[in-house]
Amino acid sequence: MFALTGIGHLVTNDATRDGAPLGIVHDAALVADASGIVTWVGPAREVADHCDAAPVDVGGRAVIPGFVDAHTHLVFAGDRAPEFAARMAGTPYSAGGIRTTMAATRAASDDVLAHNTQRLAAEALRSGTTTIEVKSGYGLSVHDESRSLRIARQVTTETTFLGAHVVPPDASADNYVDTVCGEMLTACAANAKWVDVFCDRGAFDVDQARRILQAGRDAGLGMRMHANQLQHGGGVALGVELGVASCDHCTHLTDNDVEALANAHAGTVATLLPTAELCTRSPFPDARRLIDAGVTVALASDCNPGSSYTSSMPLVVALGVITMHMTCDEALWAATAGGARALRRVDVGGLAVGQRADLIVLDAPSHVHLAYRPGVQQVAAVVREGQLVSGSLAEWR
Ligand SMILES: [Zn+2]
Repeated sequence: MFALTGIGHLVTNDATRDGAPLGIVHDAALVADASGIVTWVGPAREVADHCDAAPVDVGGRAVIPGFVDAHTHLVFAGDRAPEFAARMAGTPYSAGGIRTTMAATRAASDDVLAHNTQRLAAEALRSGTTTIEVKSGYGLSVHDESRSLRIARQVTTETTFLGAHVVPPDASADNYVDTVCGEMLTACAANAKWVDVFCDRGAFDVDQARRILQAGRDAGLGMRMHANQLQHGGGVALGVELGVASCDHCTHLTDNDVEALANAHAGTVATLLPTAELCTRSPFPDARRLIDAGVTVALASDCNPGSSYTSSMPLVVALGVITMHMTCDEALWAATAGGARALRRVDVGGLAVGQRADLIVLDAPSHVHLAYRPGVQQVAAVVREGQLVSGSLAEWR
């Protein structure tokens, strides 16, 4: 049993509470059972009727659902600090830098690769990410993609085969697509839940992306994709046509793309990754246009060593609000419930009865402070499935 009381501001993402998406409860308490599932949420004064043990009093702090980061690339070795410094000095970003990380990843031992992945997953957890998707995509050979997924599987069940990140320098594009759809997919499928493709300038075109996604689907994987990050193109249209769970980036969209996402029969989510634009000094995706058109929007970190070397979802939420004109409520929803939609999960992303007790105790009176105080460490404690996994639940003073 796990129980919190004295919650000044509890975000449940349970719209049935008050009709608003965040389902906020003030002066609240929350109870979870021994398996870490929420069994009761309600007024703090009633908590004694719903739990056997004494609840922990969080002293008026805010509690929000744990972040669901539906887009990361944590399996790699080395870093690209010199490339970042050069970019900040004026060299433009291109997809080719992925090859630098490929070389370092191939050269790393399993232990080094696993240690780096675990270190980054732990870093993400400390900033409140309780569900994380992790892609392969820096091995780009049958052996290295397969071991990347084996390592990813050690930190999450949301693993994604991204052999189609970029064509490696030692292969021709057509031959490489054949390998990705054949031998590589076969070697990777057992440790992958999803298949992904980088459909953009310098990576894979629409026809190649279609082949790769369909091959993954035929192997039993769910589909998601990188689409329309660097330029306009047919990625989003393809994703909606195939019914992918999420089109990620969505930075350069036509009116037709927006309409297609809004009417997507498969509920395709637009996952926006504003730290990628921040760290490449690129124009931000137009979140307002998407939300106003009725598209389901998620926010994720894109944590990777080239274009977005951060795992901080609090930073992503702040950028969603400050630079992409999302409301504070929309940005928090997108980083929690939106991420869960992008992973087609209903057990995470909210704190309604029946969902997992994955939550963050904030050293703040409300979720608004995530954007209001950008860059300030306000994550006091992180709980996953009813267990304290980071920080402290001691009273806020
Ligand atoms: Zn990515």
